[in-house]
Amino acid sequence: MLKNYTLTNIGQLMGILPKETMLLKGEEMGHINALHNAFVEVVDGKIHAYGIMDNCPETDQQIVNMHGDWLMPGFVDSHTHMVFASSRHNEYVMRLQGKTYEDIAAEGGGILNSAKKLQAMDADTLYKKALKYAEEAIAGGTLALEIKSGYGLSVEAELKMLRVVKRLKNELPISIKATFLGAHAFPAEYKSNHQGYIDLIINEMLPVIAKEHLADYIDVFCDKGFFSVEETTQILTAAAALGLQPKIHGNELGLTGGVQTAVDNNALSVDHLEHLSDVEINYLLNSNTMPVILPGSSFFLKIPYAPGRRMIDAGLPVCVASDFNPGSSPHHNLWFTWSLACLYNGLLPAEAFNALTINGAYALGLSETHGSIAVGKNACFIQTRAFESINEIPYWFAQSHAKKVWY
Ligand SMILES: [Zn+2]
Repeated sequence: MLKNYTLTNIGQLMGILPKETMLLKGEEMGHINALHNAFVEVVDGKIHAYGIMDNCPETDQQIVNMHGDWLMPGFVDSHTHMVFASSRHNEYVMRLQGKTYEDIAAEGGGILNSAKKLQAMDADTLYKKALKYAEEAIAGGTLALEIKSGYGLSVEAELKMLRVVKRLKNELPISIKATFLGAHAFPAEYKSNHQGYIDLIINEMLPVIAKEHLADYIDVFCDKGFFSVEETTQILTAAAALGLQPKIHGNELGLTGGVQTAVDNNALSVDHLEHLSDVEINYLLNSNTMPVILPGSSFFLKIPYAPGRRMIDAGLPVCVASDFNPGSSPHHNLWFTWSLACLYNGLLPAEAFNALTINGAYALGLSETHGSIAVGKNACFIQTRAFESINEIPYWFAQSHAKKVWY
């Protein structure tokens, strides 16, 4: 891709924020700063200057006339499980026939099914599959990405997954963060020996991950039927000693203490939140933990949606992500996620835009380089056609509006 260029005649340049803005919360989320008829000058892959066309400087570098097209910061997808062996369409049919996600998990399906298939697949095949999904996501406007492990559930397979993510980080032109999710589910052989598996995570997996720098974050599925608050805390304490900050799966299946555990352990984010009372909302208000909502999995599993409206009205920041995974959210189209967040989580289009950009960047520790238009930030943009208003974008649901991506 080009590293030095000037984009001119941008119909609307959206998502301009002061460089020091790390996230937006409450009422702030309802505003998008934009310039009409603008330019952006990119030098060395960074935003060097921007403004209205009247102030566009003379330049020797390549000029690309946008002819009124719109430009926005690339989406940041802060929650995906992009490395997996195969789809779970059989379980999809089981659910259509009336079984619940929990029924399927109890019968050895679900995450354990994905783990069995991933354990049997070689790293190169896994890499090629994930690469294809990542390239599709990039073409759709996802220009920074998190990828979790968690379908290995053995020392060997978890490390294999994280090494695949490391290869993706090295090969792809966008920022990728790796999250270790060995505590995604208890393998069948540890069903009645939870401590045995936790010991395996703490004593066998974490030291290698730390030594080889295979993960940026640690995640635990802290919920009913998965890891208890005590079990989660034990794992997070061991990870903290190795410098791994948590991002937690919490409050998807009930009010089970996931939010409190995340905040108490200084988590960067707590994700899902389909079940949220005022107690959790107040807990989050006094923290630096970003609440992340995942409407794709609510849509696909037909479970309640996280109360995004209530969260923003209470003054919280909200981030939205795809949760791309084969069991509960087989999609990585953040345009569709944008529409779902508006229709079912109660966000307004501008709020969902900020949730997918600057707040997504915060949830990956990337606010200094991603998520908004600011001098010095990475030049990663989505070019779309011109719309009548930003509100029109999520209205056209289930389609990508990325005409071209710049990174
Ligand atoms: Zn997830």
